[in-house]
Amino acid sequence: MKYEPIIGLEIHVQLKTKSKMFCRCSADIWTEAPNTHVCPVCLGLPGALPFPNREAIEKVVKVALALNCKPKQESKFDRKNYFYPDLPKGFQISQYDLPFSEKGWIKIEVDDKKKKIGIIRAHLEEDTGKLLHTKNETLIDFNRSGIPLIEIVSAPEIKSAQEAKNYAVKIQQIIRYLGASDADMEKGSMRVEPNVSLRVSGGKGLPFYKVELKNINSFRSVEKAIEYEFKRQAEILGSGKVPIQETRGWNEWKVKTYSQRTKELAQDYRYFPEPDLTPMHLAKQLIANLQTQLPELPDVRRQRFIKAFGLSDYDANILTRDAKIAQFFESATAAFAQTRVKGIKAKVGKSEAQKAANWIKGEILRNLNELGKGILEINFLPADLAEIIYLADIGDITAQSAKLVLGKWMKDGVKPASLIESLQIKTLSEDEFIRVVKKVISENPKAVADFAAGKDQVLSFLIGQVQRATGGKLPSGEISAELQRQLKNSKN
Ligand code: ZN
Ligand code: MN
Repeated sequence: MKYEPIIGLEIHVQLKTKSKMFCRCSADIWTEAPNTHVCPVCLGLPGALPFPNREAIEKVVKVALALNCKPKQESKFDRKNYFYPDLPKGFQISQYDLPFSEKGWIKIEVDDKKKKIGIIRAHLEEDTGKLLHTKNETLIDFNRSGIPLIEIVSAPEIKSAQEAKNYAVKIQQIIRYLGASDADMEKGSMRVEPNVSLRVSGGKGLPFYKVELKNINSFRSVEKAIEYEFKRQAEILGSGKVPIQETRGWNEWKVKTYSQRTKELAQDYRYFPEPDLTPMHLAKQLIANLQTQLPELPDVRRQRFIKAFGLSDYDANILTRDAKIAQFFESATAAFAQTRVKGIKAKVGKSEAQKAANWIKGEILRNLNELGKGILEINFLPADLAEIIYLADIGDITAQSAKLVLGKWMKDGVKPASLIESLQIKTLSEDEFIRVVKKVISENPKAVADFAAGKDQVLSFLIGQVQRATGGKLPSGEISAELQRQLKNSKN
């Protein structure tokens, strides 16, 4: 028997707000000591009354709009009841039948093909506390309790581990573009929970069971956990049994899933309307206002980069993955217009944009990766890149030196003018340069003879020799010109 996977993704993302979802506690808890950002509301003490956070509601609607969901004007909060030590009230305030939005979609790409994945709903709820299991005891930190969470539920339309990963990456990208959250899987501000089941290939309808996967903290693990589940479930089905409906954890080290608990059905949660909160009514005008506040989203920006700057789809994709990088690129391209070296203005056009694109997708992203920092966290501005490109363009520094300058500048935050000197890039005097070229010519009589005989390609060999003798500090155009001048003179 051949099986095909049916995958749906539940993604929880902590919304970046000043205060928590239903109380005034600060939501900025990351560097705080445990249990210092708590109050009777988020500790679930008897008699404490929740009050909804407007900023969180506006953010959830913005995310929903960006995911092409339809916001609901009428919605409400419900209690989802269950017992667990990280949930002090014994219930989580969530949304059941009237979420803030439903029926959306996003486009993903797999093997260069575009595919639409449906989104069933995007609702708002509160986060739970955090359990810390040590050797002999379990500690609870309630700082996280009551942080606003958006839950985004995809339709079961995802057909492979790779599609699941790409979908999750796209959700993260959109949320980061909106500035709604840092959506960091390692930090836990974004949590991806795949629902995985198998049916006979070509079959119709959904299988009678599904397995929910938890504790996944990287995109790579989303793929690995799903792939592991395919194999496990296919083996069970192959032996004539049906996998148990359950929640399974992902063990990163053992590279396998393990049973956590048999899955509760919706009725086990005894959902009912939250009596301490009135139903929500979102004015049409509010939704329309939020719509106008949406920034340019990644797919649109990517298309604009292709059109406006003549970039390839591939380059435009890399440059628009991160909104900050995309902005840096646009600013660097604009900065060309202001760049002047020796009184000469740089020109601005598609080839300049392409140069900026090449530097960013290559050296800049590589350096940032090494530094483990974002582009806004270092002292390197778009105008700085424009200047480096221009210096290399007019042959003041070689491409190799430009890379050195860029790397140093990004790492130390030092201006290149002083760097060019300290790296002794431009210290070779005219006389010395002529001497080095002369020496190379005299040391390579065979190549010189070949060149005289019309073999032009030996010129690049000779250029290489000069570059080696000068430590790669001079532009090849300059070397080439001097070589040809001297070779011509020696022939005469
Ligand atoms: Zn609180
Ligand atoms: Mn949830």
